[in-house]
Amino acid sequence: MSNQDQEYDPRMPYQLPFPLDAQEEIVVPNAATSDERIWVPQTETVSFRPLCLNRSQGYWMNLLRVRQSGVLSRHRHPQGVHGFVLKGRWHYLEHDWVAEEGGYVYEPPGETHTLVVPDDVKEMITYFQVNGMMVYVDPYGKVTGYEDVFTKIEMCRKHYEEVGLGADYVDQFIR
Ligand code: FE
Repeated sequence: MSNQDQEYDPRMPYQLPFPLDAQEEIVVPNAATSDERIWVPQTETVSFRPLCLNRSQGYWMNLLRVRQSGVLSRHRHPQGVHGFVLKGRWHYLEHDWVAEEGGYVYEPPGETHTLVVPDDVKEMITYFQVNGMMVYVDPYGKVTGYEDVFTKIEMCRKHYEEVGLGADYVDQFIR
C-alpha cells in the first residue's frame, strides 16, 4: 500500500465523476423468481429471462428455463459461451459430462452440440452468456436457423407488448 492510500478512509467512495459516455448499470433483483410475464416463451416449455442484451458488443446474458425433459436444440457456437446451472441438470449428446446445479460450463467457439434435459428433471434454469450467435443446425451441420442479440430483443418486445408490460419494457436490459 502506498502512503497516499493510507491517508483515506477505506470506505471513502470514488470521488470523481464517471466517464460522460459510460452506460448505466443494470440491477435485477430476484432474477430467477420475479414476475412470470418477464419470462419470454420460446416454445410451450422453454423460456428465457433477459438480464443484459448487449447490442453494442453482440452478446446476451439470460436465464434459460426448461420445463420439459428431452432434446432442446442442436446448435453451433462461433463464439464462446459461459453457463452456470442454477437449477436442474442437462447434458450434451456430444459430451460425457453433465452440467449440474451449481456447476459452471464454458463452451468454446467451434462447438456444435445437442442439449438434452434428462427425464427426471422437472425444471432446469441456467444462466448463459451467449456471444455473437447461436446457429441451429441439423446433424450434418446444415443451418436451420439462428439467434442473435437482435432476435432476442425482438422476441422480448413482442412478448412484453402482448402481456401488457409494453414493448419498451425490454429497454432496461439493453446496452
Ligand atoms: Fe451451447
